[in-house]
Amino acid sequence: MQTTITKPVGHRKQQEIILSTLRSLPDLLDPEMCKTWLLSKFHPEGPACNVCGSQLSEKCAASFRKLSRVHCAACGHQFNAWTGTLLQGSQISPVDFMLIRVALAAGLGGVGMIQLTGRTRQFVTTWPHKIQQFNETYGEASGEQNGPFSPL
Ligand SMILES: [Zn+2]
Repeated sequence: MQTTITKPVGHRKQQEIILSTLRSLPDLLDPEMCKTWLLSKFHPEGPACNVCGSQLSEKCAASFRKLSRVHCAACGHQFNAWTGTLLQGSQISPVDFMLIRVALAAGLGGVGMIQLTGRTRQFVTTWPHKIQQFNETYGEASGEQNGPFSPL
């Protein structure tokens, strides 16, 4: 019996491969698709006030989809599409969110995450928790389908 033995790639080498692969990803991801996908996760019912539940006017809904702050005509509440979600107050783009999510799923370590994102250690230690929370709420385990990474 003949077997081909593949030498296992070392951890450091594996991290380099993951990192170099992920570095090309932001240019390949469509920012609009990433944003639309996240909006569909956080707001499956569409744009609405997160206080009183009123549907937004067409004009407000368009601003909402652009991640601009909107004003609810019914109750006066001001908010944007990330208000009340784990992206509230975050300074990362939908593309960055997707990149970090894939990097974590690929097992990229802390140092690699810093190299990939150019962010601080604090940022890199905060986001795995947020992504895990996202995955538990909106991810595969909760029946994720037709995301940007689904096979055609
Ligand atoms: Zn309202």
